[in-house]
Amino acid sequence: MLVIYLSLPRVYCGDRVFTGELGKVFENGCIVVDHDKIISVGSEGSIDYPGEVEPVWLGGYTIVPGLIDAHIHITGFRSGDYVKESLLTPFGVFIARGIVDIGRILDAGFTTIVDAGSVVGLHLRDAVNEGVVKGPRIVASGYPISQTFGHGDIHFLPIELADTRSSKLLSPFMSLLCDGADECRKAARFALRNGVDFIKIFTTGGVASQRDRPEYPQFTLEEIKAIVEEARRANRFVHTHAEGAEGIINALEAGITRIAHGIYVDQDGINLALERNAVVIPTLSVVDLILKLDEASGLPSWALEKAREAHDTHISNIRKAYRQGVRLAAGTDFFVNSKDYNIYGMNGLELQLLVEKIGLSPMEAIIAATSNSAYIAGLQDRVGLLKPGYTADFIAVKGNPLNNISLIVGMENIGLVVKEGAVVKNVISK
Ligand SMILES: [Zn+2]
Repeated sequence: MLVIYLSLPRVYCGDRVFTGELGKVFENGCIVVDHDKIISVGSEGSIDYPGEVEPVWLGGYTIVPGLIDAHIHITGFRSGDYVKESLLTPFGVFIARGIVDIGRILDAGFTTIVDAGSVVGLHLRDAVNEGVVKGPRIVASGYPISQTFGHGDIHFLPIELADTRSSKLLSPFMSLLCDGADECRKAARFALRNGVDFIKIFTTGGVASQRDRPEYPQFTLEEIKAIVEEARRANRFVHTHAEGAEGIINALEAGITRIAHGIYVDQDGINLALERNAVVIPTLSVVDLILKLDEASGLPSWALEKAREAHDTHISNIRKAYRQGVRLAAGTDFFVNSKDYNIYGMNGLELQLLVEKIGLSPMEAIIAATSNSAYIAGLQDRVGLLKPGYTADFIAVKGNPLNNISLIVGMENIGLVVKEGAVVKNVISK
C-alpha cells in the first residue's frame, strides 16, 4: 500500500495493542501515527513505515485507545456543600481549580471527557482548544436544563437565586429552569447560544436534590420532545440524567439515546433501550466514593441517605441490563474534589467497578470507556478506536490491563499519553 505522509511518521510499539474492538489484540503490536492521525495498527513486522523511522519501544506496556469519561462535572468544588462554596468562592478560583483537575484527568489516561453540566467545563473546553491549558478534549453542555422543582433546581434557595438567568449567585453548577414546551425550547436555545456541544437535561429527580426522589419523573414527554427537537435542529444531541423507570422511558420515547445513571430502570426500559440502541452510563464511581467517604464527603444527610438506599438496586438493575445486551459507557459523575483525597485522576475507578460489580470483562470495560463513551461524546467516528483514519489518542498502561483492570486506575501505571498525535505525558522514555 502506498502511503503519503504529511511528515515523518512516529511508531510506538508495546507488548500488545488492544484496538478497542472486541477481541482485537496484537501481541508485540505497533501503531503508526502521522501528524494527528493513526495510519496503521498491527503486529510488528506486519506494518509498514519508512526505514529511517526508529520505533519507540514501550516494553512491558499495553497500548489502548485514550480513555473517555462519559459523564463528569468539572466544577472546581472542594466540598459537597456546593451552595456554601458558591457563596464564598470567587468564580476565578473555581476555574483555577478546574485547570488543576483536568490536568490530573489527562495524566490518568483520559484524553476526552464529557462534561454533563457545569459552566467551568464549558470555559475550560475553549482554553484547552486554544492550547493554553493542558487537559483532555472537553465535550461540554454548560448549564443543564431542569424543570422547576427538578433535579437541577436548588430546592432550598429562593427561586430567583436558583435559576441561572436570574441569579446573582455565580455558581458553576446551576441550571436553566423552565416549564412547558415553549419555555423548554427557549432554555434549549439559550444553552445553544452559549456554544454548548450538547444539551443536558434531567428527566427524573435524584440523590443530590433535596425535595424530590430518583423515582420522580421530571418534564413531560412533550417538554422533553421540544428540547430534543431544538437540539436536533442545531445538529446537537441530548444527554439525560434519568434514574427512575418512568423518566427513563420518557427520555427514550422522546428520542434520547444517552442515558445517565439508570438506577431504577425496569424491563420496559431495558427493552426500549435495546430497541433504540441507547447507551447507558451507570456512573458507579461517584456513589462508591460517596458511600466510602460518608459524612467526610460534605454532602447533606438527605443525599447520603438516598445514595445508600439506591446502591444495591442500582447494581442489580444495571447487571440485568448488561446481561440482556444494553451497551454501557464509563462515566464517573465526579463533581467535586475532596480536600483530603484527589478524586479527579481516579477516573479509571469506573472501569474497575464495571468489572467487579456488573461483571464486564476487563476488555469490555475498556470498550465501555472508549468506543461506547465516544458515542456519548458524539465523537464515535473520530475517537475511541485505534484504526486507520482515527484521531491518534492512545495511552500505554504498565502491565496487562486486559488481565488486571485495576492497573488502569489512577495515574501511576499510565506511562504514556498521546492526544491528537502529541505526547502529553511520557514517564517511560525520553
Ligand atoms: Zn452528573
